[in-house]
Amino acid sequence: MGLLKDKVLINGEWVSAATKATFNVKNPRNGSIVGAAPHMDASDAAVAIEAANEAFKTWQNVTADQRSALLRKCVADCAEEAKRIKGEIVSSPHPGKKCLIERQPIGVVGLITPWNFPLLLTARKIATALAAGCTCVVKPSEDTPLSTLSVIQLAEDAGVPKGVINVVTCDRANAAQIGKALCESRLIAGISFTGSTVVGKILYQQCASRIKRLCLELGGNAPFLVFNSANIDKAVETARVCGIVEEAKSRGANIVTGGQPAKEAGKLFYQPTLITNVTKDMQVYKDEIFGPVVSVTKFKTEEEGVAMAVDTEKGLASYFFSQDVAQIFRVSRLLQSGTVAVNDGMGGSPLAPFGGIKESGIGKEGSQYGIDECCYIKSITIGDL
Ligand code: ADP
Repeated sequence: MGLLKDKVLINGEWVSAATKATFNVKNPRNGSIVGAAPHMDASDAAVAIEAANEAFKTWQNVTADQRSALLRKCVADCAEEAKRIKGEIVSSPHPGKKCLIERQPIGVVGLITPWNFPLLLTARKIATALAAGCTCVVKPSEDTPLSTLSVIQLAEDAGVPKGVINVVTCDRANAAQIGKALCESRLIAGISFTGSTVVGKILYQQCASRIKRLCLELGGNAPFLVFNSANIDKAVETARVCGIVEEAKSRGANIVTGGQPAKEAGKLFYQPTLITNVTKDMQVYKDEIFGPVVSVTKFKTEEEGVAMAVDTEKGLASYFFSQDVAQIFRVSRLLQSGTVAVNDGMGGSPLAPFGGIKESGIGKEGSQYGIDECCYIKSITIGDL
C-alpha cells in the first residue's frame, strides 16, 4: 500500500470522518497543498477508543516475543525492551507466603503529538505503548498528519493486528474536543502528550477527572553554557534555536548578524541570527525559540552561569561545554533539567529516558522508563506455599 494516505486507520479499516469532512495539509515551505486528511470529531474518537479497547483484550496476552518481532518489522524502537518488562518475587514476613511484583499494561493509551519530529515522536510513542502491551489511539498534529499515517501504514504492513493502533486526525478547530474525549473517556487508561506547556496544562486538568496516567513532554528553553575550558569551535558548531528578534532589539539587544526574514528563500524563512546584550526580560531569553536564532548572555563564574541556567520555569534539556572533569560532574548535577548534554549538542540514546522537569513535563519517553509509563505495578501475594 502507498504511504501517502487520505484516510485514517480505525479497527483495521482505512476510513474517513463520519461527516466526510477533510482538511488540507500544506507544505510549510511554500503553502502548497500536499494532501488532505479526515477532519474528525469527538464521535469519531469514541469509535477509535472502542476499537482500541476491544483490541486490548487480546493484545495484552500476545507474548513479549511476538510484540518484539512486530516492532522490529515496523518501527524497531522498543523492540528489545518489550522482552525485558520484568517483575520480582519478594519474601513475605509471614510463613508460607510470597509476594510477586508484576508489571501489567495499563490499557488503551491516547497519544497526542506535535508537528516537530512527526515520524520519530509518533513511532516512539506507538512503539512504547505496543511494547508494554497497550493499544492506542493516536491524534497527530494538524500540520503533519501524513507522516503519522505513513508510520501507521508501515505498522499495518508489518502485521500489527486490527484495533491495536487507531488514528484520529482533525484540523486545529477540533483538537480540543478530541483531546477532551481522550482525557475523559473511561476506556482510556493514560495519555502521552508532546507539545506546548499551555495545552499540557489543559490535559493535566482534564485527566484529573479520572485520575488518569499522564506523561507530558512540554516546551523547553535549554540553557547552553560555554565555560572557559570549553572547546569553543565545537561549542559554536553544535548550538541552533529559534526566536523573537524584534522584541529583543527594541529592548536594547545587539543583532550581530541576521535579524531579518530570509525572503529570497520563501515566506516562512528567517536568516541565521546571532544576538548579544540579551537580558532576562527579553522573550528571546525566556521562551523556546523555533528558528535559527542564537542569543548570547555573558557570565563570569560557574555559580553565575548555573544560576542563570536554572532561573526558568522550564527544565527539558541543558547543554554545556567544559573540559574540566570536576566541573562536568558538578554542573551536570546542578542543572535543573531532565537531560543534560556535555560537550555534545544532540545527547540521548534509545536506551536512555527523555523527559523534562518543572513546567517541561512529567514522565519519561523511550527506554525501559518510558515503558514503565504504560505499565502499572501489581503486587500479588500467594499463600499456602
Ligand atoms: P505545537 O505547536 O508544538 O504543535 P501544541 O501544544 O499547540 O504544540 O499542539 C500539540 C498537539 O496538541 C497537536 O496535535 C494539537 O492539535 C493538539 N492540541 C491542541 N490543542 C489541544 C487541546 N486543547 N487538547 C488536546 N490536544 C490539543
